[in-house]
Amino acid sequence: MQQSRRISTLNGDGDDGWGLFIAAREMIAAGTPVTELTIGEHDVRTDPVILDAMHASARSGNTGYAMIPGIDALRDTVAARVQQRSGQKTTRDNVIITPGGQAALFMAHHATCDEGDRALFIDPYYATYPGTIRAVGAVPVPVKARSAHGFQPDPKEIAKAAPGAKSLLINSPNNPTGAVYGAETMNGIARVVQEHDLWLISDEVYDTQVWEGPHISPRTLPGMEERTLQIGSLSKSHAMTGSRCGWIVAPEDVTENLIQLATNTNYGVAGFVQAAGLFALELGEDFEARIAEPFRRRRGLVLDLVAQQQIVRAIPAQGAMYAMLDIRATGMTGEEFGFALLNKHHIAVMPGESFGQAAAGHIRVALTVDDDRLREAVATLLDFASKQVKAA
Ligand code: PMP
Repeated sequence: MQQSRRISTLNGDGDDGWGLFIAAREMIAAGTPVTELTIGEHDVRTDPVILDAMHASARSGNTGYAMIPGIDALRDTVAARVQQRSGQKTTRDNVIITPGGQAALFMAHHATCDEGDRALFIDPYYATYPGTIRAVGAVPVPVKARSAHGFQPDPKEIAKAAPGAKSLLINSPNNPTGAVYGAETMNGIARVVQEHDLWLISDEVYDTQVWEGPHISPRTLPGMEERTLQIGSLSKSHAMTGSRCGWIVAPEDVTENLIQLATNTNYGVAGFVQAAGLFALELGEDFEARIAEPFRRRRGLVLDLVAQQQIVRAIPAQGAMYAMLDIRATGMTGEEFGFALLNKHHIAVMPGESFGQAAAGHIRVALTVDDDRLREAVATLLDFASKQVKAA
């Protein structure tokens, strides 16, 4: 039977960028230990106090259908959090709770793009972006941010791609590059999206992991509130990746339609997960800082190691839980380097090519193992890189 064109072409050219990750998992399944520095999964699990809140909520009977837009208390708390951090007036009516940031990305594009519309996004990008855009029938259009500019996007490049486009998706702090967009970049982006009447979808799931800031939320810039859909999630900030709890903050009329979309698709987020999410947010900023701290420390550790040699160049991450390394001096692609490193040293990193053309010749190291193991893995990686140059 012929499946829909939309689902059969979700991955575009057929490579979804997860090849190395899967190869590493197969190695592990076959009994070979691998140091996995691939995905953005914390090395700590969800804190037991949050699990206790989830358990207590479920045991008290909160196992039926939950409010589809999200429970009032959680929507209020998200609104207050966004308002407190950004200064921008935000109420419950601006907020819908979603099954994680990923569902929010899909829903935001669904709300803004029609079939065949061009949806812009910045390359390098989080691996799901083009597929998410195709999933709503829109056409993904990458705009390159350059390694030489610390992967800050250039508003002029966005402007070139903007005529006729419908939306722009940005992500600061950025995965995979760690770039935190500065005032010049953000103001430039705000100017371009207003000039070309684009929606701005702002993926801010790493907003608690900012090492060199400040984090600028574009919804706060003049004229931006009415055209911005801001995405947040508890996955990264509270080590709750498996709970699937995120949100979209949007103009009220957009939120109303998003609620219709949720009603006709996922039917909201489990009530006991929302109760746990509410409890987690009420733990406050100290808790969030505690979850973020190991990544700040490990970022420093990687930059120190990289500074001791000349082959591999770091693009210093200003935020998020990754280090982006330029390995072009080895003459290898990120993919070649990644697979060779995996096969020889059983260390798994993500090839830059998994995140688009602009990250070719780079690798992304997730800072998601303990410090000693990370130090050893990065030292091995750097030594491996220097041997590739000597061998060439
Ligand atoms: N956006 C970015 C940039 C991400 O890195 C991720 C997860 N790795 C997500 C969104 C989705 O996160 P979640 O669905 O777990 O909230």
